[in-house]
Amino acid sequence: MKRLNFKLIPVFLYLTLFISGCVTVPRQPAVQPYGIYHVVGRGQTLYRIAKTYNISINELMRTNRISDPTQIEIGQKLFLPGVRLPLPIESYKLVSLETVRKLVGPKYHASHWRYITLHHSATLEGNAECFDRNHRGRRMGGLFYHFVIGNGTLSGDGEIEVGWRWRKQEEVNRPADIQICLVGNFNKETVSSVQFDALVKLIKVLREQYNVPIRNIREHKDIKGKNTECPGNNFPFYKLLTELKKN
Ligand SMILES: [Zn+2]
Repeated sequence: MKRLNFKLIPVFLYLTLFISGCVTVPRQPAVQPYGIYHVVGRGQTLYRIAKTYNISINELMRTNRISDPTQIEIGQKLFLPGVRLPLPIESYKLVSLETVRKLVGPKYHASHWRYITLHHSATLEGNAECFDRNHRGRRMGGLFYHFVIGNGTLSGDGEIEVGWRWRKQEEVNRPADIQICLVGNFNKETVSSVQFDALVKLIKVLREQYNVPIRNIREHKDIKGKNTECPGNNFPFYKLLTELKKN
């Protein structure tokens, strides 16, 4: 009798979990009948490789046991499941001013933007969509930035994403203040040259349209009363100002 009870315990546990809906029935491991190896080349990000082969970045990370998408190295071998033929990975082209003008859109005459505040995401990866979700979860009403500039993890390196608040010309939490966020943690890493180039061009276009004076461009931590390190100690703020003053 005692023996029987012991045997039944796992069955009862399973049933209890099943009924409470907590158990996940282990699925058969996905069989990948084919795939190819790709050797990471210079300037290639996981994002760009995933996009080229139309594989989700999560699948690529899972298959290759990568936990941090920023940590891939030149020469690293990646298995690309479901891929039959190698494709050329487009090397990143710097965004043109013309493209940035299109992204920013025409001047909104009803708007009077006077400041630009710079942030980092303080995360190693991300994009506008995931920050929007995160900010909604924190009851901030959605993406707290007007523009997000990617670092090649969940969006392209230097890719400018336009937030919905910019499209609606909605202020975030300070009047007349445009919020730009660069994906990355610039206490730990540095701004890539492509990200920097995109930032310079974005600010140039915004200044063309709204005449924001250079003295009104600031780091988040420069705002009085803000106890933050944002956008991080490695953020090249003075280099940025020098670049902007050139034209
Ligand atoms: Zn900030």
